[in-house]
Amino acid sequence: MNKKVVIAHRGASGYLPEHTMESKAMAFAMNVDFIEQDLVLSKDDVPIVIHDIYLDDVTDIATKYTNRKREDGRYYVVDFTFEELKTLQVTERFNPKTGKQYFSSRFAKGIGDFKIHSFAEEIAFIQGLNQSTGKNIGIYPEIKEPKFHKNEGKKITEIVLKTLADYSYTSKEDNCILQCFDAKELKRIRKELKSELFLVQLIEFEEETKNLKHFATYADGIGPWYKQILDKKIAGKWEFTSLVTEAHKLGLQVHPYTFRADKLDEFTSFDELMQTLLIEANIDGAFTDFPDLMVDFLNK
Ligand code: CA
Repeated sequence: MNKKVVIAHRGASGYLPEHTMESKAMAFAMNVDFIEQDLVLSKDDVPIVIHDIYLDDVTDIATKYTNRKREDGRYYVVDFTFEELKTLQVTERFNPKTGKQYFSSRFAKGIGDFKIHSFAEEIAFIQGLNQSTGKNIGIYPEIKEPKFHKNEGKKITEIVLKTLADYSYTSKEDNCILQCFDAKELKRIRKELKSELFLVQLIEFEEETKNLKHFATYADGIGPWYKQILDKKIAGKWEFTSLVTEAHKLGLQVHPYTFRADKLDEFTSFDELMQTLLIEANIDGAFTDFPDLMVDFLNK
């Protein structure tokens, strides 16, 4: 991979509710390089495209299946069959305690007729669009919470790898990147399950950035939080941690998360954020909720 890649984070999620087929179609039309799928298993072992193991912050589950929450008050994907999940209305992400949506300027909560879909359905959709447009846009699936799934008696990793193989994603040439936060599981995917896919080790905590050498024994890239790349700003110029240069020395690509035009924090504009990380820090791609802006930026 030579060119910097744009990864549509949960689809074009800055514009349409995350992980809906509509947000994936919009991202596809924006000419991204990859479209992301977060994966959780249903009760009947269907890989579902959804960010959390919970349902109550992106659907109307709490009004439809009131008596099926767990003791912690949450509704779990794993407690519902795919048929049941398909009856839910998907909406812009909100706080289930207050009912308020997280990003107030985004697509309004409760509007539209959005549904949950399976991983296989989304792959077929993207492959169908690749066929009809002559493009070759990749998929970037994430296995969510392998430990949780194991405790529920579920083999998410084996099922996801089987689905990928069913749709001919088996090697690094197949335009698919598989990601996971769980380092033990990602290593198992390479060493025990013998996957030849392009693997990206996601990094949540600062101290994990010290494990790059270990990650390089099984992964092809890392997905850190972008703030782990920023050190400090001196006289208007950013200085960076050694993360990107160390990763590159080990042959690891660097795809940080998540670039949001409506959550800039230390930057004054989205262009400044992209210029700083994509060009000055020399990352190889990034996850973004606003893929059109990153595609435009990289085309300039
Ligand atoms: Ca993800």
